[in-house]
Amino acid sequence: MTGANIIMKKERIAVIGSGISGLTIANLLKESYEVTIFEKEDEIGGLIKCKRVHDCLFHQVGGHVFNSTNKKVLDWFWSFFDKDAEFVKAKRNAKIYFTDRIIGYPIEDHLFELDESKVTHIIPELLAIHRNGTDQPDKCADFGDFLQNNFGATLYKLYFKPYNEKLWQINPHHISLAWLKDKLPMPDVQQILQSNILRQEETKMVHSSFYYPKEGGSQFIANRLSHKLDIRTGAAVNRISLQESGISLNGMDVYNKIIYTGDIRSLPASIKDLLKKRGVNVSGLEALRSNGTSNLFCETDKNDISWLYLPEPFTKAHRIVYTGNFSDTNNRGSERSTCIVEFSGKIDYEGMCREAKLLPGNLTPLAGNYEPNSYVVQDSNTHAMIQDARHALELHGVYLLGRFAEWEYYNMDKAIEAAFRLRDKIGSS
Ligand SMILES: Cc1cc2nc3c(=O)[nH]c(=O)nc-3n(C[C@H](O)[C@H](O)[C@H](O)COP(=O)(O)OP(=O)(O)OC[C@H]3O[C@@H](n4cnc5c(N)ncnc54)[C@H](O)[C@@H]3O)c2cc1C
Repeated sequence: MTGANIIMKKERIAVIGSGISGLTIANLLKESYEVTIFEKEDEIGGLIKCKRVHDCLFHQVGGHVFNSTNKKVLDWFWSFFDKDAEFVKAKRNAKIYFTDRIIGYPIEDHLFELDESKVTHIIPELLAIHRNGTDQPDKCADFGDFLQNNFGATLYKLYFKPYNEKLWQINPHHISLAWLKDKLPMPDVQQILQSNILRQEETKMVHSSFYYPKEGGSQFIANRLSHKLDIRTGAAVNRISLQESGISLNGMDVYNKIIYTGDIRSLPASIKDLLKKRGVNVSGLEALRSNGTSNLFCETDKNDISWLYLPEPFTKAHRIVYTGNFSDTNNRGSERSTCIVEFSGKIDYEGMCREAKLLPGNLTPLAGNYEPNSYVVQDSNTHAMIQDARHALELHGVYLLGRFAEWEYYNMDKAIEAAFRLRDKIGSS
């Protein structure tokens, strides 16, 4: 053997899905493994996909912006881009629309913009919360309780209940607190009062400032991350079978490991059978609930808002994302500006157009899209069920990653963090 070059054949990994999760993990593993991505759609990107309509940029599943509080995520992300030349950095200018006024977001920091009759109720409620310590998560039975106990009855009724009801299509008292605990910025009464008196901007939320591509929106991010990757589009994986020699996809190619970023409810039948044999609650997994999102892409009068939240019941829409304000190139085919009106659930195009007439900005609809899966809804059993499935699958070289495979309310940065964790796990196995 002396002097001979021993060429070790790289292990083969198949990644199912080319959303941000699949693209990230493929990049993280591509030096050490032979990685192939399978994407069922003809285009890559998953939820971050965009297309041009009349030469204006339509984010088909909601306007996506990027930021992270994790330095490792930022360093990794920026290694693919020229931050200054290819992105704009913007400060969030989010507002809440009430029929009698528009106020700043988040509402608790803009109490000074509300009517005196409301403020005279809100302040004593906040002070009582501070005195009695009712805001602690262990004193809240559910998400509705959490909101009411943290912001008081008046703000809950005015904003938190109607807005969350529209978004989640369910009463907030029916949403488990378990999964929201570490994700919500915990409000602090002293901070709320200080922000109102000093009129300070909220800066802790991950998207209080954000980066956005100068050209192409979030599709630009997906496209750049896809460089140098082996991606097969229009390639749905419907069959996964575990064999002596490895794991075969669709009865064809054999891989050493599979990373699944699709919907856990739609795992192929053979994988569900395997999970059942290992005692995993497969019917529980299949019953997981998600919400879809309908989007209406519109021309709008110009403004300087980034997100406009719509809590009131006069419209089914829950927010308008002014994507035309993120980059001028998004409005290339328009003399005005562009935006996306977001609805939870399925609303047909004509229905969305009717709603657009009720909204500010003289909206002119250009296109619509419905995405059946966009928001995951968890209950108190979800984490345990996913963990059981994850452990059982990993014994066979199948790994779960991403918003719908892990059933996590990930933003892009959190999906990237999850891919880092998986890279470390696979690298050490
Ligand atoms: C309305 C909305 C707005 C958002 N805004 C932001 C934002 O501003 N900033 C931010 O950071 N995050 C935002 N997010 C979150 C962000 O979209 C997600 O975190 C991210 O896109 C999830 O990526 P993913 O790869 O895990 O899943 P997905 O994007 O769903 O990717 C999964 C991919 O797998 C493919 N696939 C599934 N099954 C198969 C199969 N059997 N065979 C082959 N391919 C398959 C799918 O076609 C899809 O391409 C938003 C989400 C929504 C819904």
